[in-house]
Amino acid sequence: MYKYLLNTLPRPLLIRLSYVFKFFAPWLYRGNAVTCPVCERSFSKFLSYGSNVAHRENVLCPYDLTLERHRLMWLYLKHQSNFFTAEQLGVLHIAPEQCFLPLFKKQPNLKYLTGDLESPIADIHFDLHEIPLEDNRFDVVFCNHVMEHVKDPIQCMREIYRVMKVGGWAIMQAPQDFNREETYENPAITSPEDREKHFWQKDHVRLFGKDYPRWMEKAGFRVEEFDLNKHFSAQEIQRYRLMQGEVLYIAHKN
Ligand SMILES: [Zn+2]
Repeated sequence: MYKYLLNTLPRPLLIRLSYVFKFFAPWLYRGNAVTCPVCERSFSKFLSYGSNVAHRENVLCPYDLTLERHRLMWLYLKHQSNFFTAEQLGVLHIAPEQCFLPLFKKQPNLKYLTGDLESPIADIHFDLHEIPLEDNRFDVVFCNHVMEHVKDPIQCMREIYRVMKVGGWAIMQAPQDFNREETYENPAITSPEDREKHFWQKDHVRLFGKDYPRWMEKAGFRVEEFDLNKHFSAQEIQRYRLMQGEVLYIAHKN
């Protein structure tokens, strides 16, 4: 039943349902086999998630709906960065994830601003190809799962680079097909059905390959690769249910 709902309902609706779900999930999934580092709760297992093509078992936190990539980014921020410890950081969070938003908002060391094309939960609204903010303003920018949707990713990345301070860093994760050397684009593919088939989702306009970090470099960034296998034990990867082979890119403005 849950599996069916999770696979058929759109994610925004799921997020709303999650508020109801939160009341009984901790009891329903009580246990200590997996731990979500974001909500700091442990469960017997996580929920399954994904479409029929990309279905994954035991990945979705029943409390705050984090997936593997959210937990990896959180662990990086917590243990490998100055995000929670720096005296003050100016942060721009584009297309803010629901699981992070309330937690980042209440961090006293962050001057936190959210932006999105249209999401009602964002502070300001703009097109990423032309960010209506001044140069050299932010220490940290997050912009996850956006570049596979936009018309010109390099232009968007250049805009992010522009609003960042020298010494700042950004996280701009995107779905990547590690079986492809080169990013796959084809302007002839325009229908939602074809886009889902070729680019993994109805509203994706490209499928990034192994060359994704090169795109960030083209926009001016120095890209550092954070390989989870080098930083976490097999037991930790299993407990936090991280995705084997996932690489977190830290894009620096030097
Ligand atoms: Zn959680």
